[in-house]
Amino acid sequence: MADAAIRSLEEFRDAQRRTEVRQRLHDRFDRWLPRVEDQVKEPQPTLEELTHAVFARRQALTQAVTEGVLEQAHRAGLEQRPAVCPQCGQTLAARGPPKRTVATLVGAIHLPRPYFYCTRCQHGTAPLDEGLQLTERRQQPDVQQAAVKLTRAVPYETAWELCEAWTGVSLSAHTAYEVTQAVAEGLTVLDVAPSRKEILAKIVAVAEGQPWRPILVLALDGADVPTRPETAQGRRPRQTNVRAKRAHWTGEWREAKGVRFDLIADDRIVQVWSWHQIHTDAEAAEALRPVKAAGLIPETEVRRCVLADGARWSWTQARVLGPSAVERLAYSHCSAHLYTVAALPYGAHPERPREWCAAARARLCWGEVHGVIWGLQRMQPTDAQAAAEIGKRIRSRQRHEERLDYRFARKGGYPMGSGGIESANTCICHVRLKRSGAWWYVTNANPMLALRCATYHGTFDRVFERYRRRIQERSG
Ligand SMILES: [Zn+2]
Repeated sequence: MADAAIRSLEEFRDAQRRTEVRQRLHDRFDRWLPRVEDQVKEPQPTLEELTHAVFARRQALTQAVTEGVLEQAHRAGLEQRPAVCPQCGQTLAARGPPKRTVATLVGAIHLPRPYFYCTRCQHGTAPLDEGLQLTERRQQPDVQQAAVKLTRAVPYETAWELCEAWTGVSLSAHTAYEVTQAVAEGLTVLDVAPSRKEILAKIVAVAEGQPWRPILVLALDGADVPTRPETAQGRRPRQTNVRAKRAHWTGEWREAKGVRFDLIADDRIVQVWSWHQIHTDAEAAEALRPVKAAGLIPETEVRRCVLADGARWSWTQARVLGPSAVERLAYSHCSAHLYTVAALPYGAHPERPREWCAAARARLCWGEVHGVIWGLQRMQPTDAQAAAEIGKRIRSRQRHEERLDYRFARKGGYPMGSGGIESANTCICHVRLKRSGAWWYVTNANPMLALRCATYHGTFDRVFERYRRRIQERSG
């Protein structure tokens, strides 16, 4: 009987508080509306004028609603007074300042929550922060995710402008940079690539209704990225500005080594995954080592083919990632060199080698490698440098002879060109990294490249979840 009486008293108090919260929300709305109306000057405003006024003040409303709903859902946490120190077990009294304000996409949320500090352990705790899964940073994960979605596409300064314009949350370019680095911290190829299950599902979709197994093309190529040395970082004597000064360092173009997998069936190209990082040969080998063990290259479900240019690291990696695959030297790489040969000095009849080179490109298409090598051997350039260049081309053709059988490639439906990896180089590396005046520290460029790969694979949300778990673990 007494229990029932207490329960009904609690229920009554609870209902009363709900009414109070609602009343406060109504009052805030009543104050909000006239401000919007004041902002609209014309008696008969256009829709744009109206939405502009509402958009400008929307956060005052969404913020109030969130605070009201939060108050109802977390009343116990907001009113908690004594707490137990998680380290020594001592009972702690709440102390000020209790208020914390966090930035979210719906506005700044004020939390009048209690804070406890144990003088013995010198450890502070706010249990409600944990319950709400707040992050230490003022900007909460929703804002951080929006920011990184922008920084992965546009420069930090632009990201900051856009973020403020569309979300109403101000975020400095530096915070946008810090969050981006934190989200991408330590990303490996396995964090970013689709899972084996997702890859197999793509293969099944592509293979449907086809008489042959689809072709899985592994293409390898490098993309030039403007980098600056790590030594340009930091403050120097008499330098007040922490930004790197152009005069103190020399930029260097470094190669972002790219590996890309595509599926080909019936003239369709389906992107599977790619990985681009500014790496030395050894670093690239190390980074790609877990790929095979993770089963990201299904071997029995596809016919495999490797496409690369003449770079040595490409073929070393190709042998590791795609042993026993059909190997092809990218046709464009090969035919571009014929243009170089055609442009060399030949004395009396320069048009003849030019015509021959044009014809040789067609011969290559038909797999007549021997004819092309023979033609190159008969070239009669007028200087030693040109002769050396031709010698180099002959040796290259001889070294890659088996990789030049484009006739076989065409008959089997294997690709000849490296368009896939070149477009990945443009879309993943160049679009974001190669901007006028931008020189990247490798320690910033590689995380950015990893984020961009994740974006193109559709695994960005997974990457962000990984980050969210990490910050929860750290603060927990
Ligand atoms: Zn303690």
